[in-house]
Amino acid sequence: MAESDQRETSMGEIMLANGLNYCKAIPILSPYGNTAGILAILRHQQADLGPREQQIVDRAKHIAAISIDRTRHEEALVRRETQVEQSQAQLVAAQRISSTGSFTSDIQRDENIWSEEFYRIFDLDPKLEPSIDAVRERVHPEDLDLFDFEMKRGFAGEDADFVFRIIRTDGTLRFIRGLARVTHYIGDHPVFMGTVQDITETRRAEDALRRGEEALAKAREELAYVSRVMTISALTTSIAHEVSQPLSGILANANACVRLLALDPPNIASATDTARRTIRDTMRATEVIKRLRAMFSRQSPAMEKIDLNEIAREVIALSARDMREKFIVLEARLAPELPPVTGDRIQLQQVILNMVLNGIEAMAETEERPRRLLVRTALVSEDILTLSISDAGVGIAADAADKMFEPFFTTKRDGMGIGLSISRSIVENHGGRMWAMSNDGPGATFAFSLPSLGKPTDRSAT
Ligand code: ADP
Repeated sequence: MAESDQRETSMGEIMLANGLNYCKAIPILSPYGNTAGILAILRHQQADLGPREQQIVDRAKHIAAISIDRTRHEEALVRRETQVEQSQAQLVAAQRISSTGSFTSDIQRDENIWSEEFYRIFDLDPKLEPSIDAVRERVHPEDLDLFDFEMKRGFAGEDADFVFRIIRTDGTLRFIRGLARVTHYIGDHPVFMGTVQDITETRRAEDALRRGEEALAKAREELAYVSRVMTISALTTSIAHEVSQPLSGILANANACVRLLALDPPNIASATDTARRTIRDTMRATEVIKRLRAMFSRQSPAMEKIDLNEIAREVIALSARDMREKFIVLEARLAPELPPVTGDRIQLQQVILNMVLNGIEAMAETEERPRRLLVRTALVSEDILTLSISDAGVGIAADAADKMFEPFFTTKRDGMGIGLSISRSIVENHGGRMWAMSNDGPGATFAFSLPSLGKPTDRSAT
């Protein structure tokens, strides 16, 4: 049997082949009472154990139990060590990936343990003995007061959560968030566990986002201004009415006043009344004119050479976020080699933005098909450019088609109904035309044309 490897399957065969016809199996018990193994006594024939044999068997059982038990313990220990090693490696990787170092610190005694990533974040030699001063040396001079203040609080056993800057040896600036909680006390010394996280990238992304939002707000403001100015032009009729009404009042009252004073005796009381009414009407007219002045106080439209594709792209960028939030997919088919147009950049952007926003609003309820907005530019003849925007929205109702471009026509609950009328007057002021049509499928297409200046500006197909 000793010479054979076939321990599992052919035990019986081997026994028999060696003339061992009798087997006595005695359980080996572990110190906890479990069966740890079996001691088998093989004989040529059945026979009971003599007292001497029994003694030997008992001793063998005892030794076997101890040895099996130890082997099992050793195996468990190795397994646990491997697990500890694995979770330690995992921790190191996690710290690396998340740029987060950890530490334990008794601030009062300046006794610290730092993780590998802690050293890396602060750009410190891994062999360096951990100390608060070593970290402090990296802190940006402007943040030293804050750092010292937080250490002082830590000294008194208060938790910390603060952001400070450090300068690494190569001169780069990093933002660090430090977090520390008291986990226990040794005597009256608080012991902290905490993390330090390099949040520079997050900070940069947040800053970029904020700057982007500021630029967006500014652009919106500019467009809102144009919209205000153009609203005035659409409202010219009613303003003229407002001014002409007090003017005719002034004329009538002044005439009456002259008549009343010419009487013999002059009717001073009534003349005074009419003079007062004249003053009131004059003030009303002045007020209207003052309001107009305030609204028109900015400079008149600046005409410049404009690339239609470029301003379309700018508007698309402005509305990108809005579209993302409303699950709208934008497709831009901008014609390459488009000649420039002459115009007021902000006014033309106002027109495009209004078309885009109308398209988005028209698809607010669209569920059964993709919410797709298609922006196209084209050179339709040698000197005419068009820009069109097609949506997959509600489309144009037959009775709305004629009225849409009229001021104050709206089908929206919060609509002003002036966007399209302003847009059309802007386009016409630029020597172009603006129109709307129903798509073959669902939705509508709004478009305008502008005369070109003749020289291509965009050589790149989009
Ligand atoms: P507002 O958007 O404030 O209503 P507009 O002058 O921009 O003002 O639009 C006038 C009306 O034209 C809208 O209320 C709507 O009925 C119609 N309209 C504009 N754009 C679209 C579109 N893309 N699809 C369907 N209807 C539209």
